[in-house]
Formats: sequence, C-alpha cells, structure tokens
Amino acid sequence: MKTFGLLLAAGSSTRFNASGEPRENKLLRKLPGGKEVWRAAFDALAQHPAVSGVGLVASEEVLAQAPSASPEFAIEGGANRQESCRRGLERSPLNAMVLVHDAARPFVSEELISRVLGAAERFGAAIPATPVTDTIKVVDGSIVSSTLDRSRLFRAQTPQVALREQLIAALDAHPNATDEASALEAAGISVHVVRGEETNVKITTVADIPQYPGTPSVGSGFDIHAFSSDPARKLVLGGVTFEGEPGLDGHSDADVLLHALTDALLGAVGEGDIGLLFPNTDPSYAGADSMIFLREAVARVTANAGRIVSADLTLIAEIPKLKDKRNEIRQRISQELRLDPRRTNIKATTMEGMGAIGRKEGIAAMATVTVILQ
Ligand code: MG
Repeated sequence: MKTFGLLLAAGSSTRFNASGEPRENKLLRKLPGGKEVWRAAFDALAQHPAVSGVGLVASEEVLAQAPSASPEFAIEGGANRQESCRRGLERSPLNAMVLVHDAARPFVSEELISRVLGAAERFGAAIPATPVTDTIKVVDGSIVSSTLDRSRLFRAQTPQVALREQLIAALDAHPNATDEASALEAAGISVHVVRGEETNVKITTVADIPQYPGTPSVGSGFDIHAFSSDPARKLVLGGVTFEGEPGLDGHSDADVLLHALTDALLGAVGEGDIGLLFPNTDPSYAGADSMIFLREAVARVTANAGRIVSADLTLIAEIPKLKDKRNEIRQRISQELRLDPRRTNIKATTMEGMGAIGRKEGIAAMATVTVILQ
C-alpha cells in the first residue's frame, strides 16, 4: 500500500521567538544546507520511495513558498494542530495510509520513515519514540511527590502513521489530543512504537538550528607588470605609493600586489578573475586605483557567504626594497580585508638576477587567501 504524506507547517513559532523580538517563523529559517526548515522536512517525505505524494497544511508565510515544492495540495492550517491535521486528512486520498509529520523536524531520515511505515503496515498504526534518559519527577507545587519509572517512558516523535479513516474518527472523538497517537490510543487503537532518532529533533528554539563551522576555500592569484618608460607613472604596490621609483605599465595603476590579491579572493569564491570583472578595454578603469578592484572582490566574498581568515602575499622584485613600506602595506590591506594584521602577511623575494624580473624588467606578485564559506 502506498502511503500519503501530510506535512503540518501551520505552527506559530511562539517558543522560538524571544520576547520583545520581532516574530519570526522558525519554519522559514534556513538550515546550513540552504533549505528552509519546512522545505527540508517536505523533501524528506517527498523523496521517500514509499510515499506517493505530500500534502501541505501551513501558515500563510509557508504557503507563499509552497509552489516551488509542488505539493499534492497546499492549504491553510486551523486554530491548532489537531484542526490542521484534520483539514489535511480531509484532502488526503481515501483509505490511504497517512504519514503525518511535523515540519519542525527537518532532519528525519529515510530509514526512520521506512521503519515507521514498516511497523504501520504490520500493526495498523505506528510512531517513532526515543527512551527518556533523564529521571522524571512528578512535582506538586515545589515538592516532589513521586519519581516515574523511566524504563517505560518514551518521547514521541513524528512521522506518525495510521489509516486515514481511523485517524479522522479518532481526532473527531478526541479533539484535545496533543498528537495523532494519543487520539488513536484514546480511541482504543493500539499504536506500535519503533525506535526514533536522537537527530530527529523538533526545532523549538534558535539553539536547535545547527551552526556548521563552514568550509574553508583557498584562492590563489598571480600577476606581473613590466616597468613603464613613462616617467609620469607612479609605482603603487599594495595601495601604497613608492615615490621616486619607476612605475609599472598597465591600464589601471598597475598595482601588481593588489591584482594578485584580487584574483586570489575571486578564486576562493569561484567568481572568475580580475580581467573578467574589469576588462582593460573599459576606459573607465584607465589609471584606476586598484583598491576599487579589491573592494569589489571583498564584496563578492561577502555575497558568497564567505569570511576572509588569512591572506599571504609575495612580491617578486629586484627593486624596490619594501623595507618600511612593508608594514604600511600590511595595515592598508588588513583594513580593506577587515582582517587582523597578524593574518595578513607580506613577503618579498628577488629572482637572484635571473630572468625578466631579475633583469629588472618588471615586478610580479603572488597571493594566497583562505576564506571560510558558511
Ligand atoms: Mg595586473
């Protein structure tokens, strides 16, 4: 028998929102993978091979996003969970086995769904539950009146599976049940329990949304410019002008160090290279301050949910000597990258007189950056 999925997403997130803060629907929060909470729960059901289709009972906010998921139907919820569930069952296929799932449980696994379905097929109704590990007290006022035998206590999860008609009858007879299973129990239907999953948490507060540490991405950049024969051109390296030194040729200010750094940043977030972004055929970049390019690259890192954590730059030149300018460059670049200067390293090397750079025909630079992608 094929099973129909029913996703309940009509909750009002009352416990999710701290008092005084603007109300936020927790089901619309994005999980580290990029999916909204409700959508991850929806997809878990929709992608299960034994689930024939999924109906959605939701708040207006979730319904606005529903078309992208192509549910069998998408309807507004009722005043409470039971009413929402009842509305969804009304629209579900006749005589179907219905799997009711809470949209606030986005981490439900395929195995868990299979386990509950397997038990429901054999026993008629089934739910997943996890054993209680804390000792549970019954408290009257502020005095413990008894301690429950926790070996018999379990925490109910969803998905909960039952026959549509049985569940409708049970909910109609017991409208105050807090979950589907308790309505079934009250109606005298035995509910089989399968092992739940600790990871199948119900997102109740912000703390329930996992924060992943992020993925490191390393970008590298290289650039080279020849010295200019134009005495009017100034030498600019790392945003710092070197007075009295021969300038480099280029469409912009030819800041070879910033160009290598810009390429490294673009590389770390998969945004191509400096030539793609700022073609040297574009007259608006003639003589441009290369900080413009660097700032755009930094903006693209941010737009890709990246955070720069280190930058290591190497200047390859016979002249000039960096000397006291090294620290100035370091400060200038750290400021632009919004990075601790200790994480911004500026190195310099010569070519020992070999090759074009050794012959003082130009200057090259290399850069490596590390970006953490959230
Ligand atoms: Mg260049």
